[in-house]
Amino acid sequence: MEIINRIPRMRSVTEKLRRDKRKVGFVPTMGALHDGHLSLIRRARAMSDIVVVSIFVNPIQFGRGEDFDAYPRDLARDAELISTRGVDYLFAPNIDEVYPEDFSTYVLVEELGEKLCGVSRPGHFRGVTTVVMKLFNIIKPQFSFFGQKDAQQVTMIKRMVHDLCVDTEVVICPIIRESDGLAMSSRNAYLNAEERKAALVLSRAHKQAKALYADGEKEATKIITAMRQIIENEPMARIDYVAIVDNQTLEPISIIEETKPVLIPLAVYVNRVRLIDNITLNTPILDDENESSFF
Ligand code: AMP
Repeated sequence: MEIINRIPRMRSVTEKLRRDKRKVGFVPTMGALHDGHLSLIRRARAMSDIVVVSIFVNPIQFGRGEDFDAYPRDLARDAELISTRGVDYLFAPNIDEVYPEDFSTYVLVEELGEKLCGVSRPGHFRGVTTVVMKLFNIIKPQFSFFGQKDAQQVTMIKRMVHDLCVDTEVVICPIIRESDGLAMSSRNAYLNAEERKAALVLSRAHKQAKALYADGEKEATKIITAMRQIIENEPMARIDYVAIVDNQTLEPISIIEETKPVLIPLAVYVNRVRLIDNITLNTPILDDENESSFF
């Protein structure tokens, strides 16, 4: 595995790979890698000739007062972890090179980015789509791999790729969870033992939503109310949002139809740590063994 820090070197590598007609699979990350990231890498390895992983803690997707400075960073540990997983290139550029002083161009996916997480994190998705577009331009991947864990991000990247005719196939990978149901996240490292236990309200709320739906409940407000009750019973938890939305438009749904893919995303603060999670209904492709063994 070659570690590349400079954009020109990464570009020259990817240009040669293109010329040689090698299929490049790309996994963008912010590091602090866990099994969720590794599942994306495995999928990339299975589908591509060459796997490129990027690690870049993207400053422009963090708002003021958010955890940009505290975000866990350990490039040496991450590099070692993935060096035995069939990754060919680790791209870890410096902030100054990604955002030189005169940087002034952004990619904005309108509307979608203002809903759900966009309400409490204004500007977050503009930061995400801008950096992902830049990485796409540098790496020119045939396939790019994203986790369903960040469901709104997935919807927006797909929209950006479609709207701007980006030449990459977006592959969505299912959420990887701890055995007790907590979705894996680099931010779980912020939780102390008590908070870690309290964080189980997220998956418990989703479990209840699945059970209600399986019992024939179709009214979104009833499901949301039941989910909110579970979360509100946990003193350390504070709800940012709980929603039931159309998977594509992220517009709220009032009655769940069996034929329509539905997303049930939520964001909850456990003390000061903001966690997100989601489940989907009527989308068998995203329900992997890991998910179904928990729910
Ligand atoms: P991050 O490093 O948090 O920006 O995540 C990089 C990629 O890994 C994103 O596409 C995430 O959706 C994905 N990812 C993070 N956590 C998980 C998880 N628990 N299961 C599956 N994919 C994940």
